[in-house]
Amino acid sequence: MTHRKLLPGKLVIASHNAGKVREIRALLAPFGIEPVSAGELGLPEPEETGTTFAENALLKAHASAQGSGLPALADDSGLCVAALSGAPGVYTADWAEKQGFEGGPGRDWYMAMGKVEGKLAEQGPDTDRSAYFICTFALVWPDGHEEVFEGRVQGSLTWPPRGTLGFGYDPVFVPSGRTETFAELDPAEKHAMSHRADAFRKLVEAVF
Ligand code: IMP
Repeated sequence: MTHRKLLPGKLVIASHNAGKVREIRALLAPFGIEPVSAGELGLPEPEETGTTFAENALLKAHASAQGSGLPALADDSGLCVAALSGAPGVYTADWAEKQGFEGGPGRDWYMAMGKVEGKLAEQGPDTDRSAYFICTFALVWPDGHEEVFEGRVQGSLTWPPRGTLGFGYDPVFVPSGRTETFAELDPAEKHAMSHRADAFRKLVEAVF
């Protein structure tokens, strides 16, 4: 399969999530790309109505590429738990959504991790605790050309949560071959083995 090369120049990071934009900027730094975020360009944030990671990443990337006339890179990611048939999956962020508390809706990651743990506990003490994080990058050009790359990191879920680094579900995720959670590992170590790094390696091989 031949991939289209991404030439040096401006690229939109099709995300309104400051943490993701920071991570993706750092990943792109060595490649002569001038990243601008969708937020900086005032581009709207499309609703994530897809049922797969790739669909949602493509939705975001197409919206930014069309809105800006520049190539756009989007990431969609989540946690898939084997014993829960892959849930929360594409709904990973939704499981943290709380509604109607003072100050409006927000995300509560402790609640989300507790929900996953509660569902595992229902299956008894011997249940399979394996899980993986997945990251899908979609790179889309203004003429509609698409490239999609998927990365994973395998591990297992622990309880109670441990560590204060990272974000999201990091405090309950222990990557295979380690005893620390992602929230206990040095960020550089996490980033070297993460699903996002894995997907980005594939992108680099294909388009740079
Ligand atoms: P989305 O890609 O913005 O729809 O949301 C993905 C969700 O997956 C994030 O909000 C996080 O909760 C979770 N997630 C993705 N990557 C990581 C990670 O590296 N550590 C912990 N949680 C993650």
